Amino acid sequence: MFQSRLKNAGFSRYLALTLIWTTYIPMENQKKSQSPPVSSTESLELDHINVWLFDLDNTLYPAHCNLFAQIDRRINEYVAQFLDLNLENARVQQKLYFKEHGTTLRGLMLEHNVDPHHYMDYVHDIDLAPVDPSPDLSAVLHQLPGRKLIFTNGSTKHAENVTGKLGIEHHFEAIFDIAASDFLPKPDTLPYQKLMLEHDFDAVETIFFDDMDRNLEPAAALGMTTVWVPGHADWSGDGEGDHVHHIAEDVTAFLQAAVAGLKTA
Ligand SMILES: [Mg+2]
Repeated sequence: MFQSRLKNAGFSRYLALTLIWTTYIPMENQKKSQSPPVSSTESLELDHINVWLFDLDNTLYPAHCNLFAQIDRRINEYVAQFLDLNLENARVQQKLYFKEHGTTLRGLMLEHNVDPHHYMDYVHDIDLAPVDPSPDLSAVLHQLPGRKLIFTNGSTKHAENVTGKLGIEHHFEAIFDIAASDFLPKPDTLPYQKLMLEHDFDAVETIFFDDMDRNLEPAAALGMTTVWVPGHADWSGDGEGDHVHHIAEDVTAFLQAAVAGLKTA
């Protein structure tokens, strides 16, 4: 049926598919590099999706904005000041927290009773100049049918600042942040479950986008469709494994492909 729709599609659709092809590669084609890639929209069966769930950092804006470099410096300063260490030793401690507790904040909270709100305000006090407004992303979010939410290990204030700079803040009905997650960061399963319970939706009707592939594991286990947004950093992961259903080098292009597929459904 999809084939017949393709045959009737106009030249503009052909151009759109070609563009999408270059920016979105389905998982199976990543692994079978010998095989010629098929049209990406053929594997985008998203008619069952009613909830579009997005990570924030390096997902809704490109990783090359490198906001994390600024946040990372602020985290380093915070740890150094709080534990009275030099920056180098604070960095070592920070990596231990990340490894043992998932985030530096979790380590500081569990081991030193740090006030998480004070910490979040400090580390997210950054320059958003690298983030450009994204009218194309805003346009495609407007076209997406269903609910749109943000699920971030950062703070609501940071998410509001960033989405405001992108010009997309009005598309989201909710931001489920690290405080809403009871400061249990992704990929802990509990915040995923709490998010679905509080916002009253099911995993099977949800597609989740995140640049860290390990954050997709609980999502897939719960029944969500998952999209990995490669971050080109070690902690982004390699995108391998059954929990990664799709790969989107460019989230806007992926969503445009999704909208095109839904329109012809
Ligand atoms: Mg992220």
